[in-house]
Amino acid sequence: KDKSSVSITVVGASGDLAKKKIFPALFALYYEDCLPEHFTIFGYARSKMTDAELRNMVSRTLTCRIDKRENCGEKMEHFLKRCFYHSGQYDSQNNFAELDNKLKEHEVLKSGCSRRNGGGDSVSVAGCKGRSATVTAVTAVTAAATADTPVNLNHIAKAAVTGGAIFRPSLKSRWGGRVSNRLFYLSVPPNVFTDAVRCASLSASSANGWTRVIVEKPFGRDFESSSALTKSLKQYLEEDQIFRIDHYLGKELVENLSVLRFSNLIFEPLWSRQYIRSVQLIFSEDFGTEGRAGYFDNYGIIRDIMQNHLLQILALFAMETPVSLDAEDIRNEKVKVLRSMRPLELEDVVIGQYKSHTLGGVTYPGYTDDKTVPKDSLTPTFAAATLFIDNARWDGVPFLMKAGKALHDQRAEIRVQFRHVPGNLYNRNFAADIDQATNELVIRVQPDEAIYLKVNNKVPGLGMRLESSNLNLLYAARYSKEIPDAYERLLLDAIEGERRLFIRSDELDAAWALFTPVLKMLEEKKTIPECYPYGSRGPVGAHYLAARYNVRWGDLGLEK
Ligand code: NAP
Repeated sequence: KDKSSVSITVVGASGDLAKKKIFPALFALYYEDCLPEHFTIFGYARSKMTDAELRNMVSRTLTCRIDKRENCGEKMEHFLKRCFYHSGQYDSQNNFAELDNKLKEHEVLKSGCSRRNGGGDSVSVAGCKGRSATVTAVTAVTAAATADTPVNLNHIAKAAVTGGAIFRPSLKSRWGGRVSNRLFYLSVPPNVFTDAVRCASLSASSANGWTRVIVEKPFGRDFESSSALTKSLKQYLEEDQIFRIDHYLGKELVENLSVLRFSNLIFEPLWSRQYIRSVQLIFSEDFGTEGRAGYFDNYGIIRDIMQNHLLQILALFAMETPVSLDAEDIRNEKVKVLRSMRPLELEDVVIGQYKSHTLGGVTYPGYTDDKTVPKDSLTPTFAAATLFIDNARWDGVPFLMKAGKALHDQRAEIRVQFRHVPGNLYNRNFAADIDQATNELVIRVQPDEAIYLKVNNKVPGLGMRLESSNLNLLYAARYSKEIPDAYERLLLDAIEGERRLFIRSDELDAAWALFTPVLKMLEEKKTIPECYPYGSRGPVGAHYLAARYNVRWGDLGLEK
């Protein structure tokens, strides 16, 4: 029976993300038997809270999936009993050392015996269906390490931590086969990332197992600040220990992108400039900043959505076939795409900002009406951009990105527009009917996950009338299962040491290298964003941008 344990510390446990996403995702994993048998969850933040208060706070956010209501209350109670809290500063090694002591107490309890007799090399995730059953964890290597000596992550990492793959039998016997692994989730503002990593590293890293740190965006606000952040994190962590989360990569339909492309014969042959006329990556929200623009106003929509979520999807979409599904093989291919991208020009970017608008008797506020936004803010709440990948596969194909707040609907989707059928018989004879109807593949990431392909179809009847119709895979209709939240998948991957869906530092560098020059120009020139009414389809400039490349935004039709 596996005796190794995992302690998950949510740093910034009092915050919005922890409440909204991290604790509920951990509970969902627990419910699905996806957490290792011996796990403990700690909340850590400056706010004063008892264990009971943390549990009370967490309990209010937990839900069970519609299809998983059985024993839900009981499961919640068991889960909450394994949640604890420690209050401390993010820059205090002493406070992290106190956390370390508490973690040790639980780890000893979990292993059922003294640490000096303990040890182990694997994290079992026995009940988690569809996942690998056991993931090998890293065995400590610092020969001098004792259970009571905090070990710098660097020492452990340099010697052994490479995705949990290295195993040193000599040390296994020293520890008797038991390991205490630790995962820290940095759910705090970026200004405290380095302090928290330093303190966790020096005072609370695992003495005999792996230590991993999940870092939330924003990873800097331009190339320089991102590189500086990476450099400061790497004073205390090896790259393999850093899990930079982009929750879009954990979304079901994004995960399915590679499956669709590489496990179906019919798509891959079409996946190039030869058949694809344009690719569109669209993100829209139908609400504004709603009094929470403090963070957003310093970043804007390009940094918040395009440079990370949309660009990550683009890289996955456009990459060459990786050697294998191994994380490094996939990330190598993604980096190649990013590095093949043509520098983004200012004229290929349109920015917008929403203004107050009255709809159906209700007046919706403009961006600068938000009390947390300076009245003269030029921060874009909307942006559209055309990007090109200068490689053999994608030469000349415009990749259009569009992201905005306070638009007419909420969606995230990938739209692949195919070229016209050469010498189309039906165009020749029935031009009016199908002139504009080219095939389009739509991958709707959210909401109402779906994949559909627009095809030209004959309307039944004696005549010959054609119309564009959908071959439709609507997830809600096809799968009765509720789709797991992206954070569940990503947390589980981090525990299992699966890095495929996390961003490597060279990917991050390439992403910032692409957007930083344009972001700087927009700021230096104090470019005034084009106004668009709250609830509209965004600024007209976005249409001109697409038209310049002879493309129409695919989301302008009536279909959702
Ligand atoms: P948050 O609520 O503003 O902050 C989390 C916790 O950090 C707070 O409860 C507070 O805890 C502490 N904190 C806040 N401001 C601080 C400051 N200036 N200095 C030191 N500590 C401070 O943040 P969040 O919304 O949970 O997000 C956490 C991280 O995830 C951020 O990096 C954010 O950008 C990122 N993120 C959030 C979301 C989201 O949906 N919320 C989505 C994507 C990424 P104490 O005062 O108790 O210490």
